[in-house]
Amino acid sequence: MKYYSTNKGVIGKSFKDVLLDGLAPDGGLYIPESFPILSDKFLEELPEKTFSDIALEISKLFIDDIPELALKEIIADAFSKEAFLIENKGSCPELVEGSPTPLVKISDNLYIQELFHGPTMAFKDFGARFMSRAMEYFLKENKQELKIIVATSGDTGSAVAAGFYGVPNLKVYILYPSGKVSNLQEKQLTTFGGNITAIEVKGVFDDCQKLAKQILRDKEINGKGEFSSANSINFGRLLPQMFYYFHGYNLLRKTEKEKEIALSVPSGNFGNLTAGLMAKRIGLPVKKFVASCNINDVVPEYLATGIYTPRSSEKVAPAISNSMNVGNPSNFARMLDMYKNSVEAMRLDIIGETVDEAETAETIKSIFEKTGYLIDTHTAVAMRGAEKSGIKNPIIVLSTAHPVKFKDSIEPIIGKEIEIPEKLKETIAKEKKSILIENDIEELKKLLK
Ligand SMILES: *Cc1c(COP(=O)(O)O)cnc(C)c1O
Repeated sequence: MKYYSTNKGVIGKSFKDVLLDGLAPDGGLYIPESFPILSDKFLEELPEKTFSDIALEISKLFIDDIPELALKEIIADAFSKEAFLIENKGSCPELVEGSPTPLVKISDNLYIQELFHGPTMAFKDFGARFMSRAMEYFLKENKQELKIIVATSGDTGSAVAAGFYGVPNLKVYILYPSGKVSNLQEKQLTTFGGNITAIEVKGVFDDCQKLAKQILRDKEINGKGEFSSANSINFGRLLPQMFYYFHGYNLLRKTEKEKEIALSVPSGNFGNLTAGLMAKRIGLPVKKFVASCNINDVVPEYLATGIYTPRSSEKVAPAISNSMNVGNPSNFARMLDMYKNSVEAMRLDIIGETVDEAETAETIKSIFEKTGYLIDTHTAVAMRGAEKSGIKNPIIVLSTAHPVKFKDSIEPIIGKEIEIPEKLKETIAKEKKSILIENDIEELKKLLK
């Protein structure tokens, strides 16, 4: 498989180039030249396949420069039972099983896929763990060193820090908006030390994202490709996210007869949704995706009007689903490319829904009161988006984070305290170490030199 840049200035790149570049040198995002369709045999045999089987077959479609044996090892290590512990089964109304991403039935035709059983309790562990191990593979081969720059609104930073911590030949710089991530998230990204450096920026997430992209495009600091990205601009993160779409479908089909499903995806930078669109392209039978956004809803607005108006950082609203407070989603470039800039074509696959703050809170409260099952703020947006869409097919709502990560927002809504799991208590007790900087590229460059 070869890859090109959405800006069309770069073509014919290998998976290795794509992974180690992060952003294409022309500022575009890498995308596969074609989407190979999985065989009928694959789909027929899908019910018997484990998560690892699925992961290997999909990886082989997109990666031809890592031998199968090494791919198997990367997958086994990235998605090991030790890393993805399924805890708290008791809280689920009806668990349809399925490590590492169990499916929970909420009501007829309505399911939640829990993607938060990894080390940092958010779905970004899937991308970060796979990507770090794939990078390690190529770096070891070439005895090379690589620096990673990553912007985070909270969860990416912690998943990347945990996924890359101690990985040889890799240094990680995490940019996060000062005072705009939850306490727990901050502890999860500032307490590693070692090869992980946390940089606190006086600004919002979009400022961090812009700074990270500027570093990647800066000839002086990244002229020889010393830096890569661990944001969802890196295709290496989207690929492993396709795995759980197939796995979730498998789990759903154990109880539902309907072949075509729908999915509601809580969206910020649209990496998760783009991975879903790619899964559909290679053969996953999805009738519709719901792009569920909080009030920062430039993509639903585009789907409604056909006009894309990115919002500058001052216009990004601080919603309680804070990982989705994004005014110019980076993966929108990939979406446009996949649908050849046609809003009509995009509408055939995607429904956009906006969920406001009151609706988010109401959804958390009512599901908790009806079923005893607690969802986080992001999952609540997707849940409400699913309801608003009016879709009749069985629908899977992707649950992207464990509610404890957003404890401070959720406790007042349900009027109850959320118990902190043991593995997080240790993190909270650790001391924060970060470097505070202005929202200023020169200051950042000085620091990185
Ligand atoms: C990052 C994140 C999202 C948004 O995912 P994108 O791929 O950026 O659209 C949603 N929920 C949680 C909990 C997240 O951390």
